Amino acid sequence: MNFRSHARAFLIQTAAFVRADELAFRIQRRNRQSRGLVVGMHETPASLEARFRGQLEWACRHFTITSLEGFARLWEQRPESNAHARPPVLFTFDDGRESNYTVAAPMLESFGARGVFFVVPAFAECTADQALSFYRSRINPDSRPGDEIWEDWKPMNPVQIADLAARGHAIGNHTLTHQRLSGLPRDVLEREIGNSARKLISWTKRPVDAFAWTFGWDAVDATAWEVIRRYHRFCFAPCAGVIDSRYDSPALLWRREIEVKYSAAEYRFLYSGAVDPWWSTRRNRLRKMLQVSHESPTK
Ligand SMILES: [Zn+2]
Repeated sequence: MNFRSHARAFLIQTAAFVRADELAFRIQRRNRQSRGLVVGMHETPASLEARFRGQLEWACRHFTITSLEGFARLWEQRPESNAHARPPVLFTFDDGRESNYTVAAPMLESFGARGVFFVVPAFAECTADQALSFYRSRINPDSRPGDEIWEDWKPMNPVQIADLAARGHAIGNHTLTHQRLSGLPRDVLEREIGNSARKLISWTKRPVDAFAWTFGWDAVDATAWEVIRRYHRFCFAPCAGVIDSRYDSPALLWRREIEVKYSAAEYRFLYSGAVDPWWSTRRNRLRKMLQVSHESPTK
């Protein structure tokens, strides 16, 4: 366990002790009719299926698990409508692993919901022999040989991706080769974003509305943003925050990483929004850099 995980474990224990998670929930619930949450996950191995179900059952008591279409209604409803409904939560999965196809999609369907699957076309096209080295070199450079289980690195293929789309899930673009987008010339951005979108459309026969950039919250710049916006309506940032439709735009959506493997204490703490204040400087820097208009929540 490194220093960061020690600090996080301490924070979670302290929060549970002083019930800070419940307090954060209460604050988050103000103006609940305009607010929603997006969760970001990665691998969903079969060995953690029961844990995943437990997390979704818990989430159901506080939120309405929805689809991308359902989530977009946050920007349609009148502020006074639906005041007592539970806020929507949308589940998203990055990189396009096969375990998302075999475990996550049927699990969401059993809750009457649909997810967003951000896939990397070049990963989906890897043969069985190529997938592990693609995973190590492009998707998870921190991966150590021997640590990975096959669910970490086995991608879903184009047929499975098309099947998810036909079943009502949204397929999102996560770049052609899992590229870090900041500082790239336009022709590379066009290939990584535009060619990737065209390939996904040809596989799914549907528009690809959603995009999620790779790696860190700041691994994007204004030039990449301009290309992303030309192809996609919704862009998901790896930056935590509650989405409030009065101040946030569907063009830039905050996303909180809450993995299937997390314990109940960990996920409860993360859903509560207690960590969001730490991300507010980053959210503001992104809004400024990407010039996404918003009104100040303090107004
Ligand atoms: Zn990724």
